[in-house]
Amino acid sequence: MGKTPGDGHDVAVIGAGAAGLACASDLVRAGLRVRLVEAEDSVGGRIRTDRVAGFTTDRGFQVFNTSYPQVRRRLDLRGLFLRPFTPGVLVHTDRGRLRLTDPTRRPRDGIALLGSGWVKPRDLLAFGALSGRAVLAPASRVRARPDGTTRTALADAGFSEDFVETFFRPFLSGVFLEDSLETSARFFHLVWRSMLRGTLCLPRDGIGAVPEQLAAGLPPGVLRTSSPPARAPPRASCPASHRPRAGPSRRSTTPSTARPCPSPPCWSTPAAGS
Ligand SMILES: Cc1cc2nc3c(=O)[nH]c(=O)nc-3n(C[C@H](O)[C@H](O)[C@H](O)COP(=O)(O)OP(=O)(O)OC[C@H]3O[C@@H](n4cnc5c(N)ncnc54)[C@H](O)[C@@H]3O)c2cc1C
Repeated sequence: MGKTPGDGHDVAVIGAGAAGLACASDLVRAGLRVRLVEAEDSVGGRIRTDRVAGFTTDRGFQVFNTSYPQVRRRLDLRGLFLRPFTPGVLVHTDRGRLRLTDPTRRPRDGIALLGSGWVKPRDLLAFGALSGRAVLAPASRVRARPDGTTRTALADAGFSEDFVETFFRPFLSGVFLEDSLETSARFFHLVWRSMLRGTLCLPRDGIGAVPEQLAAGLPPGVLRTSSPPARAPPRASCPASHRPRAGPSRRSTTPSTARPCPSPPCWSTPAAGS
């Protein structure tokens, strides 16, 4: 039989990715006795860094945005020794390489771009206006706007079809994982805003430094790595009151309604070595 909350823990958190680490940290802060189990040999889940032949190599391309509220709330940014990227993008086109930087931080680059003849004045103006509004507008106002598709929002903002195809479509399809620009315009504006207001960067020691810092904030004994995969409970054995509730109340991460499972518990983690 596996370890259970009855072994001295009120709650088990399965998986030490960013979500599990944050959850365990909140539960510890709420005074609960927490066990965080991770099947892998280290924390981070999809946010991991390996050292290969002296190189620091992240798994997948990750960037760290300092403007995310959870980042500001949970992490000591100075301790990550962040290394910023130049705020902009390189677009490879059949006319050559197009370097587009954040006009709110590097207005001179925009003037140089105009001189190159690659970007029409109307697109540069629309780019500056879109970015200026994004930096100044409070998020609450962005969320309150009527919604539509990103494609329509870009046309309404005055961008030419050519600029949308050359820059926005390839760039945003990498962000939204869809290339028809059907994503909510509101979401696009919020993402654009967070990119402009924050700094996109990477920690000196790779993206894995982020979950490692979160893990270092947990009290000793909470985290167990290389744990045999925890078993999810059959749904029927878990009382409805212990399951996550759907609806707006799930927005809160405050574990004030968390209650230990009854005996027998709703979950179990196999004992080490089993
Ligand atoms: C290539 C790539 C690039 C990305 N780039 C960015 C980026 O630039 N910026 C950004 O903000 N986000 C980015 N993301 C998204 C971000 O990485 C994920 O949203 C985030 O890591 C998800 O965290 P998580 O804790 O929810 O899940 P995961 O990271 O998947 O963690 C889940 C953990 O649970 C463990 N686990 C699962 N089942 C069990 C079990 N039964 N028992 C024990 N342990 C278990 C797993 O081993 C894992 O460690 C990117 C993702 C990928 C894949």
